[in-house]
Amino acid sequence: MNPSSPHILPLFAHLPLPHSVLIVEDEFLIRWALRARLSSVGFLVAEAVDLATAREAFLSPIDLVLLDLRLPDGNGIELLAEFRTARPKTRVIVMTAHGTDMTEAEVTSAGAYALVHKPFDLDHVVRLTQRAAVS
Ligand code: CA
Repeated sequence: MNPSSPHILPLFAHLPLPHSVLIVEDEFLIRWALRARLSSVGFLVAEAVDLATAREAFLSPIDLVLLDLRLPDGNGIELLAEFRTARPKTRVIVMTAHGTDMTEAEVTSAGAYALVHKPFDLDHVVRLTQRAAVS
C-alpha cells in the first residue's frame, strides 16, 4: 500500500466525523474490549448479541458493522447479505474464530470489507475499522 495514502490513519487518531459502528458479537469480553477501544478513538458504538438484536440495532444509522459469524440464533453471514442490500454503503468486517467458516475471498465476494480471525489483535481491528470508515 502507498504509505502516503490518506486512508492510512495513525493509530488512535480521531476521525474527523463520528462514525457509528455496530458490534455483533455474543462473547461479552470481545464486545467489551471492542467497545472500549473503538469508543476511545471516537466511534459511536452500538452492540448486538445475536441476529435478532442486530437487525433491530441496524434500524438506526450505522456506518460500519463488526460481525461475528457464529451467533446464538444463526449465522452472521445472513446479516451481511441483508445489511448490504438495505444499505450498500455500510462496511462490514467479519470476525470469526473458526478458520474453516469462510475464507477472506468468500466473505469479500459476499460484500464484506474484510475478515479478521479471532483471537485478533485489537490494534489491528481498530486500524481496519478506521480505514473502513474513511474508505
Ligand atoms: Ca460467536
